[in-house]
Amino acid sequence: MRLLVLSDIHANLEALEACLEAAPAYDSVVNLGDVVGYNASPNEVCDRVRAMGCPVVRGNHDRACSGLLALSEFNLVAAMSARWTQTALANHHLNWLRALPQGPLLREELPGIEFVHGSPRDEDEYVLNNLTAGLDFHMPGHQDVIFFGHTHLQGGFAYKDGKTLAFAPRYQSSDGVVRSEMTLAPEERYLLNPGSVGQPRDNDWRAAFALYEADGEKPARVTFYRVPYDVQQTQARILAADLPERLATRLALGR
Ligand code: ZN
Repeated sequence: MRLLVLSDIHANLEALEACLEAAPAYDSVVNLGDVVGYNASPNEVCDRVRAMGCPVVRGNHDRACSGLLALSEFNLVAAMSARWTQTALANHHLNWLRALPQGPLLREELPGIEFVHGSPRDEDEYVLNNLTAGLDFHMPGHQDVIFFGHTHLQGGFAYKDGKTLAFAPRYQSSDGVVRSEMTLAPEERYLLNPGSVGQPRDNDWRAAFALYEADGEKPARVTFYRVPYDVQQTQARILAADLPERLATRLALGR
């Protein structure tokens, strides 16, 4: 079973297309939310994501851009982009976004895994450090492997014998398509973030995603990917839409 995990695409069409092109063969896809917001191709990205027919957990930007979350919850730039997205989105996409389920999401065909946008405790929580991750690991009733997004930071946390350890993939090169594989120890629990497709914030501008593999006999594995994309084209769309320039400049910095 090979599962493609996408998160925080944020209306970045060029990044999404580059990821799908670079992705190895997979059996199914799960999307951890924030399909829209920040970047300027919300309709095209909703078209692509809906055509994939995969489960999607709702993100805070999906709620804000479809009127389910007050824009006063956002900083000025995020609120401006959410307002722009509300007016740009086709009605059928707005309705689809409003109907997205809140995490945690479970799939019958993927036992032992759950999917959230923020954290298992709170869909809007940022799991940024060992303290927060530890609190999440201590929540009763959750699965051993939890995929989360929201922070736009690729990597995650492992938990064993009461200790929480943060990790991030290391790559050989800052150019081109790169991958970093890790084996999941059966006695450990994991919070895994595939990174953000459309607005990475870990100082690597390349689009991020992950592939989870489990085939019964071998221990499960997760492979993190980074993929270059046509960032100038994404930036040109942002500027043409009169969105804040900062949304364009940050993409090239990966921040
Ligand atoms: Zn996001």
